[in-house]
Amino acid sequence: MAATYYEVLQTEFDEMISWRRYLHQNPELSFQETNTSTFIANQLTSFGLEVKENVGGNGVVGVIQGAHPGKTIAFRADFDALPIHDEKNVPYKSTVDGVMHACGHDGHTASLLAVAKILSNKRQQLHGKIVFIFQHAEEKPPGGAKFMIEDGVLDGVDVVFGAHLATEYPIGKIATKSGPVMASVDAFKITLQGRGGHGARPHETIDTIAIGSQLVGHLQQIVSRRVNPIEPAVVTVGSFHAGNAFNIIADSAVLEGTVRAMNAKVRKQIEEEIRSILEGVKVADRIDYSLDYLHGYPVLVNHKEEAALIEKIVKETVSHDAFIEKDIVLGAEDFAYYLEHRPGAYFYVGASNENPNTQYPHHHPRFDFDERALLHVGHLFLQLADYYLGTKA
Ligand code: MN
Repeated sequence: MAATYYEVLQTEFDEMISWRRYLHQNPELSFQETNTSTFIANQLTSFGLEVKENVGGNGVVGVIQGAHPGKTIAFRADFDALPIHDEKNVPYKSTVDGVMHACGHDGHTASLLAVAKILSNKRQQLHGKIVFIFQHAEEKPPGGAKFMIEDGVLDGVDVVFGAHLATEYPIGKIATKSGPVMASVDAFKITLQGRGGHGARPHETIDTIAIGSQLVGHLQQIVSRRVNPIEPAVVTVGSFHAGNAFNIIADSAVLEGTVRAMNAKVRKQIEEEIRSILEGVKVADRIDYSLDYLHGYPVLVNHKEEAALIEKIVKETVSHDAFIEKDIVLGAEDFAYYLEHRPGAYFYVGASNENPNTQYPHHHPRFDFDERALLHVGHLFLQLADYYLGTKA
């Protein structure tokens, strides 16, 4: 039976690739994806789906109402690109300077469009409803998911699934796991305000470089000395700007960084530690500060039953060896919001082969993937639709 879905997908393969390459050549940045949205909406309309545009921003939703009553399931694909200049030498390279589909979201969208087209022809056999969530702005917090959910995209939905291509896995493999899979991400910006002055008269100044350097050390000790070592976490100071001459003591300094954790409690603890360290430094070093603390995406936590279902489907309909138990990573993904509201799971689809052009990491200027991976994304979505809505009936 599995072969049947692969065969059906195979007949859509050329069209799926043409959609992927069109999107790849015409990438749009997060929150600016108006042409991409229109493209998706037009395709969905041509398949006969009920389509809603401008859902929570540039989001697009397509609905297939089956002929019989049943559950409502949602599938999500994201469609924004990144501010990276495409350095690949392929006929379908980006035509937009400095913007590129370097994470595979073009593939997610093309694959989910093919799934929508295939299932739109099976309406008579469907027991329930399928909501296709085409989401804008995954790459840029606050992200599109939050706004689409606020706009009601999960209303009436019983279970939600999402897929990501992954060049770290070979084509044919599917990876997921139950529980936390991806990290929360927050961003902070600390401005230190001291008192500048002559390099020869340090005793009359409050030196933001000396104090800021110690602050970086304090921040590094949050993970090494305050968080329980069995909990994965990251505190990174990614930029530190202060001063502009060798003989002047810097009046102010700005430090920016990221905080990542695999557990909501640790996430909260780190924020509190940063705040308390700053209060301490203020007293000890007689400095003023301000802190902008931006909460990004929460921890992505796969639900047990749905993650187990994916494992079962892969082992039974692909092969036992096709399934990989996913390692956790401290990257973040706004699919996490859907899983805060509904049961479901997120899975990763192998997308590299022996060709080095398919082995670059995501967000690399030469990123590309084995396009046959779209068949595997589609196959799993079709199997899930089958499981919940009995399309084989
Ligand atoms: Mn991505």
